Amino acid sequence: MHRPTVLISGAGIAGSTLAFLLARRGFEPTITERAGGLRSSGTPVDVQDSAFEVANQMGVVPSLREAATQVRRIVFVDQRGRRIAGMALPVNSDRHIEIPRSDLARILCEAVQRDAKVLFDESVAGVEQDEGGVNVRFERASPQRFDYLIGCDGLHSTVRRLVFGSEATVIEHLGLYVSTFPLGGPAEVDDEVLMCNVPNKAISIHPGRGQAIAALMYRSPAVANMDDRDSDRHRQLLDEAFCDVGWRASELLERLRNVDDFYFDSVSRIRLDRWSKGRVALLGDAASCVSFLGGGSSNAMAGAALLAGALGSRPSDPQAAFRDYEREHRKRVGPRLRGVGRASRLLIPATAGGIAVRNLAIRVWSAVS
Ligand SMILES: Cc1cc2nc3c(=O)[nH]c(=O)nc-3n(C[C@H](O)[C@H](O)[C@H](O)COP(=O)(O)OP(=O)(O)OC[C@H]3O[C@@H](n4cnc5c(N)ncnc54)[C@H](O)[C@@H]3O)c2cc1C
Repeated sequence: MHRPTVLISGAGIAGSTLAFLLARRGFEPTITERAGGLRSSGTPVDVQDSAFEVANQMGVVPSLREAATQVRRIVFVDQRGRRIAGMALPVNSDRHIEIPRSDLARILCEAVQRDAKVLFDESVAGVEQDEGGVNVRFERASPQRFDYLIGCDGLHSTVRRLVFGSEATVIEHLGLYVSTFPLGGPAEVDDEVLMCNVPNKAISIHPGRGQAIAALMYRSPAVANMDDRDSDRHRQLLDEAFCDVGWRASELLERLRNVDDFYFDSVSRIRLDRWSKGRVALLGDAASCVSFLGGGSSNAMAGAALLAGALGSRPSDPQAAFRDYEREHRKRVGPRLRGVGRASRLLIPATAGGIAVRNLAIRVWSAVS
């Protein structure tokens, strides 16, 4: 019997989850991943709600728990490191796991390696589709025809650009940039996130799990002609933004000069009218990026389950299957897309007054709760 073939672009959270679930439904998935291997950067992310159910179905919950952080609190410090406010964080309960992004990506990718071919250092370079399939050209491998192509290749999706048009027409910069990188050793305290704010900027140190993770976040208008792979330019922008912030900024900027794998990107929203065209569909950040504070990883996993379920039920009518997936998944991501601005104003207030009010509110709230 013919097993429907599906090419998945991107071995991130969305791509690996989708490949696993489609393989279980009798599909033959191939994944291409642009990076040479799995990446080590990224702040901890949440696996919760329906994403937790998906992890359960995949049998990876024990591995996720082993790699989960032990965070209980966030503490705000001033530029001299003095603690000024703190509050409990609602993470790591029965059905809510907080885990470094790199560990989540690794566990999901390991889970799928038996059932899918994973080609690292590879990318889709051209796409042509007809009624019966999708012809794909690659950067390195020979061209191949697949029954379906799914773009799970993140905010700057190549599949989206090739099939749906230029990124500039669908991306909305939300006025923030974020960079994250591992510190190369444990944090002093393993259950507290530390955060220092100055107007428009924030530095946080997350204990991760045995390996602390730094995040530098700042407000800035979109930088023109930014190449999302130009690490030297990213380092330079971070140097300019954080050189006068105090607290641990100089130590972190020094670390950044020596770390190979760090994440740097704008915080952006993707707004697309349709997530599919013919036999090609988009999932995760490629379709509906709400990465920062928007539960991007849980969205990606929950969306993968809907997409695999829809395509599994109607393999001969992919357009109807993609419409079913999109209708259901938009109900989940729509409210999250709208909530990102509010959350970022709380974490990165624009003024000294805003920081003081936020900290006071936290102190009052912690005292009464
Ligand atoms: C290394 C890394 C670190 C991150 N850190 C943070 C963070 O600190 N904070 C935050 O809010 N969000 C972060 N994100 C984004 C976050 O992971 C996503 O918002 C969320 O998990 C949704 O997952 P996704 O699978 O849709 O996208 P992603 O997790 O971004 O995965 C997309 C995958 O596609 C790959 N890819 C890109 N282009 C191509 C191509 N042309 N061909 C093949 N593969 C391609 C990427 O290398 C990546 O593995 C990070 C993403 C990455 C890749």
